Amino acid sequence: MKNRYDLIIIGAGSAGIVAAVHARGLRKKVLLIEKSKETRGSKFLNDIPFGSLSYHSSLILNSNKLENIGISAAKSSDGTKLFEHINEQVKNLSSHLELKNLEKMGVAVVSGEASFIDSHTVKCASKEYRAKKIIIASGSRPIVPEIDGLDSKNVLTTESLFNLKKLPGSVVIVGGGPAGIQAASAFSIMGVKTVVLEKGETILAREDDEIRAMVLDTLKKRGVTFVFKAIIENAQIEKRRCTLNFSDGKKSRRVTAERVLVCCGRKPALDNLGLESAGVEYDENGILVNRSLRTSVSNIYACGDVTGGYMYTNKAEAQASVAVVNALSLIRKKMDYSSLIWGLQTTPMVAHMGMTGSEAQARYGKFGIRIYKFPFKYSMHAALRSESGGLAKIICRPSGRILGAHVFGDNADSIVHELQIAKTNGIKFGKISLSMHIFPSYGDVLTKPSLRSYIDQYSRNILINIVRALIPHRRR
Ligand SMILES: Cc1cc2nc3c(=O)[nH]c(=O)nc-3n(C[C@H](O)[C@H](O)[C@H](O)COP(=O)(O)OP(=O)(O)OC[C@H]3O[C@@H](n4cnc5c(N)ncnc54)[C@H](O)[C@@H]3O)c2cc1C
Repeated sequence: MKNRYDLIIIGAGSAGIVAAVHARGLRKKVLLIEKSKETRGSKFLNDIPFGSLSYHSSLILNSNKLENIGISAAKSSDGTKLFEHINEQVKNLSSHLELKNLEKMGVAVVSGEASFIDSHTVKCASKEYRAKKIIIASGSRPIVPEIDGLDSKNVLTTESLFNLKKLPGSVVIVGGGPAGIQAASAFSIMGVKTVVLEKGETILAREDDEIRAMVLDTLKKRGVTFVFKAIIENAQIEKRRCTLNFSDGKKSRRVTAERVLVCCGRKPALDNLGLESAGVEYDENGILVNRSLRTSVSNIYACGDVTGGYMYTNKAEAQASVAVVNALSLIRKKMDYSSLIWGLQTTPMVAHMGMTGSEAQARYGKFGIRIYKFPFKYSMHAALRSESGGLAKIICRPSGRILGAHVFGDNADSIVHELQIAKTNGIKFGKISLSMHIFPSYGDVLTKPSLRSYIDQYSRNILINIVRALIPHRRR
């Protein structure tokens, strides 16, 4: 029958596209509904433009290194070409995910906003579609706090930032979370006077304490001003002159800049989905799912940002694979969140995997963990590149089992990926030192602390200690 499918997916973002491709691989009849004609989710609105902004700002720091040794490099001017270039990159990179290409794979695609009529029926643009299974992957949208004088049209959000034609002279960033700090990092390098207003007591609440402190220190040295415990009272937004009046807990203050960028997090996109009609339960954090990604309704699954929690593309895509397999096959899969990994596109980069130092200590106690640190100043490769300000921190159990890894520094992503492979395959940290690494390379950031871990394990081995105690020391 027409308009009947094995699977309907709501939202063609990171999670929805992975779900659609996966479901076609299982030879199922799939309908993908996407409300926007131009975008393919947050990946192309956020991750890729921010990644490009960060990369290009890091090139400015690299060109400064050349200037330090007398080689002059051209400097960026007002950023006009930069924003054009970023938008061009986004267009090129997203072209292979055009909805028409999914249609070529056999996925039926409908444009428009989907909403439930009942647990098997979805309505879009006045047509009804039925399916045995439904996956909700409607993502999230930026939060603009309710503040007198401030709304999503008169400020920049992470999504409208890349509509800018050129760099502002100054910016106030509201929010010191990942997006705000990524923006502060890039803007400060490009000479934009940057102030961050954060309502909490620190930035990057989810990062390891030491890594967070290093990011804060680096940005302050680059000229970024931070105000903590800042509660914004009202705003006067005029063309090229925005004033925010706020209290810092002690007194009323004001800050003025050319633009305001709001980075106050994201909320699950639940509006107009008609979840009540299908009986799908949700709360302010998103759609409620179990580890199989099933909602309160047995034939409806949800994945990606709409389920709340950590909002990252890799998590959305991993959840999509689990949801599809559970929805369409007899195999039962569960999400494993123990190896969550993410990066912050700051310069240098932050890479985060598993538990932070304080999380591990809270779980296993002070004596139940070993922390191995390697400041980049001891890495020859980092020294060659004048990148000696970083830190690698690896958190293990006394047995050498890896619990988490946190790196702030050049190449942080590759360094943490190596540890992620070790962790997910049960390889103890000390074993990394037994694998040859290229010299010079950032391999030394891992091999040296890994050798310390290996020696620790070796010295803990009861059998070896007994043998050593039994063998008499040779006289010199
Ligand atoms: C500034 C910023 C930078 C980021 N950088 C990174 C990064 O570097 N790395 C990383 O891993 N993550 C990053 N993220 C997070 C990442 O973008 C998201 O976690 C990820 O894209 C979520 O995928 P999703 O499929 O759940 O949602 P989305 O990709 O947002 O897709 C949801 C789709 O559903 C559509 N939709 C919504 N409602 C309906 C409806 N009713 N009917 C039909 N269609 C609908 C939307 O139009 C959208 O296309 C960043 C986020 C921000 C804000």
